[in-house]
Amino acid sequence: MRKLLDFILPPHCCVCETSTAGASIPWVCRACWDDIPYIKPPVCYQCGEPFAAPPEGIASPLHRCETCLSHPPVFARARAVGLYHGILQHIIHTMKYRSVYGLTHPLAQLLQHQFAACWTEAAPDVLVPVPLHRRRLWQREFD
Ligand SMILES: [Zn+2]
Ligand SMILES: [Zn+2]
Repeated sequence: MRKLLDFILPPHCCVCETSTAGASIPWVCRACWDDIPYIKPPVCYQCGEPFAAPPEGIASPLHRCETCLSHPPVFARARAVGLYHGILQHIIHTMKYRSVYGLTHPLAQLLQHQFAACWTEAAPDVLVPVPLHRRRLWQREFD
């Protein structure tokens, strides 16, 4: 069935438009997927915002950013796979606004990988998704 669909509607990368025929993720080419810029240390211990300084320039992995020091957020710790722009934003927009639900599983795997990399010590007490407003949920049909 997929081969027939690929023939009728040749798949292409949502980021660079190159053909993705035969790719494991038909909406993103391997090169773009491999170029997703992950957030890497050093990051703020609390909010996860990346620091511009190289890892050797940060004295402690518990270092917090100026915003978290001056206006502490209500959460203890947050992390993200990457910044919401460029390739990652294209992929997320394709999933959310073009309803390409086939991207949810590969994106969930990115989250799982980043979570395992960030939480090497004790597991968190709870994981909390950011809920949508009811009106947005009704428009988008998924959270
Ligand atoms: Zn691409
Ligand atoms: Zn922070």
